[in-house]
Amino acid sequence: MLDLAIIGGGPAGLTAGLYATRGGLKNVTMFEKGLPGGQITQSSEIENYPGQIEVITGMELMDKWPTQCKRFGLKHDMSEVKQITKQNDIFTLILSNNSTIDAKSVIIATGSVPRSGGFKGEKEFFGRGVSTCATCDGFFYKNKDVAVIGGGDSAVEEAIYLANICKTVYIIHRRDKFRASPHEVEKLKKFPNIIQLLNYDIVEIIGDNMGVNGVKVLDKTKNEEKTLSVLGAFIFVGRNVLNESLKQDDGTFLCELNDGGQVKVDLSMKTSVDGLFAAGDIRIEAPKQVVCAAGDGATAAISAITYLQ
Ligand code: NAP
Repeated sequence: MLDLAIIGGGPAGLTAGLYATRGGLKNVTMFEKGLPGGQITQSSEIENYPGQIEVITGMELMDKWPTQCKRFGLKHDMSEVKQITKQNDIFTLILSNNSTIDAKSVIIATGSVPRSGGFKGEKEFFGRGVSTCATCDGFFYKNKDVAVIGGGDSAVEEAIYLANICKTVYIIHRRDKFRASPHEVEKLKKFPNIIQLLNYDIVEIIGDNMGVNGVKVLDKTKNEEKTLSVLGAFIFVGRNVLNESLKQDDGTFLCELNDGGQVKVDLSMKTSVDGLFAAGDIRIEAPKQVVCAAGDGATAAISAITYLQ
C-alpha cells in the first residue's frame, strides 16, 4: 500500500514527489511511463524560469530534477496507469499490464499532449514531414523551407528555433493577431527568414510517398489559395489534457471536470474526491508554465501530507 501515488513525471509530478518525500512520507511512487521531465523537455528555449538567467533548453532545465527527488526517497515506476478507482477510502491504480497497486492518496499530474489541427493530410503525413516537436525534428530540415502552424507562444517560439536551422520558416496563423505574448512576437522581426502569414487558413498539407512537399493555404484577406513549397509542417495549435485514467467503467469520471476535461481543484489542489489531488496542466485554469506546475506539485504534496495525517 502506497502512502501516495503520483501519476505523471513532469514538473508538477516531480515537485510533488520532492515535497512529499522531503515532507516525511515514506512510501511514495511516481508513475511515469517515459523519462521524467514532461512536455517541457521538448521546448527549445527557456528564459522565464526564475533564477535561470541563461537561456537553456527544456531538457537542460529538467535534467537534475529526478536526481534531487531520488535523494529523498521518491521511487519511479515506469508503468502506465490505465485507470484510477476508489473504494472505501483506498485508491486502486490499474496498470497497463492489468496489475493493480493500492494507495492511500493520489496526485494526478498527467499534463497534456499536442492537439491535432484536424487539417487534411495531417494524419497521413504525421512523422513524414508533419511534426509537433521542433527540437526533435527541426534538424531534419536544415537549410530547407518549413511551415509552422499556430499563433500561440509555442508556435512563435518554435518558429524562432527553426529559423536558426532552416532556410525559410512560414508562420501561418488563422487570425490577424498572434495569441503569443508581445515580447515573443517582437522577436520574430529579428529573423529575415521568418515569413508571417496572418489571416491564413490551412487548406491541406500535401505530399507524396516521400513525405510532405507543400502546404496549401487560403489568404483570407484576398480570398486566394496558394501552395507553399515546404518539406516540413510543424503544428502548434494548443494541447489536450490527459484525463483518461480518471474514466470509470461506467463512463463517468472519478472526480469533477470542467467542459474542457480539466480537473476541478481548489487552491489546495484538492479535487472533488477526498485524497485525490491534481497538479499542473491537467487542472482548471492552468497557466501552463513550468514554474506554475512546480508550484501546484508542491501545494498538492503539502495537501496530501495533511490529508494523510
Ligand atoms: P495556445 O496558446 O492555446 O495557442 C494555440 C494557437 O493555435 C492559437 O493561436 C490558436 O488560434 C491556434 N489554433 C488552435 N486551433 C487551431 C486550428 N484548428 N487551426 C488553426 N489554428 C489553430 O497553445 P500553445 O501555444 O501551445 O501554448 C499553450 C500555453 O503554454 C499558453 O498558455 C502559452 O502561453 C504557454 N506557453 C508558454 C511558453 C513560455 O512562456 N515560454 C512557451 C510555450 C507555451 P487562435 O489564436 O485564433 O485561437
